[in-house]
Amino acid sequence: MQKTLSIIKPDGVSKKLTGDVICVFESAGFRLAAMKMKWLSKAEAESFYYVHKERPFFADLVDFMTSGPVVLMVLEGDNVIKRNREIMGATDPAEAEAGTIRARWADSKQNNIVHGSDSEESARFEIGHFFSGIEIF
Ligand code: ATP
Ligand code: MG
Repeated sequence: MQKTLSIIKPDGVSKKLTGDVICVFESAGFRLAAMKMKWLSKAEAESFYYVHKERPFFADLVDFMTSGPVVLMVLEGDNVIKRNREIMGATDPAEAEAGTIRARWADSKQNNIVHGSDSEESARFEIGHFFSGIEIF
């Protein structure tokens, strides 16, 4: 069984999509292994997205990710990293396949409702960034 980190970003929480997004994940057969709500600090958002620190959108991305609370989740399932990315859809909602979370609900390439780990290595780093062992069931 594989695990991935999922985040409902501040736009998803403020648009009251938390329940809908969790419903999509559970309907896909993913098991919720951990979950908490948190308002990220600037340092937490910067270190989470450190791979993008040289990108032109980095400062805006950190401002967005710290603009309100997020929902952090660990999802478990067979091949969950790849399947979650498929269910989320492309980063830019204009390019996301119909029916995906981002096609249904995202407003822009930045405000795109959800995050999902993109590899086993990033999943390990990202889960450890937000959850300790005793918080994962
Ligand atoms: P995430 O890592 O959040 O799951 P992703 O893997 O689809 O999304 P990345 O390339 O890792 O996309 O970018 C991380 C996040 O940075 C995106 O989800 C989006 O919020 C923001 N972002 C990426 N590219 C742009 C861009 N060109 N303009 C504005 N924001 C962007
Ligand atoms: Mg990414």
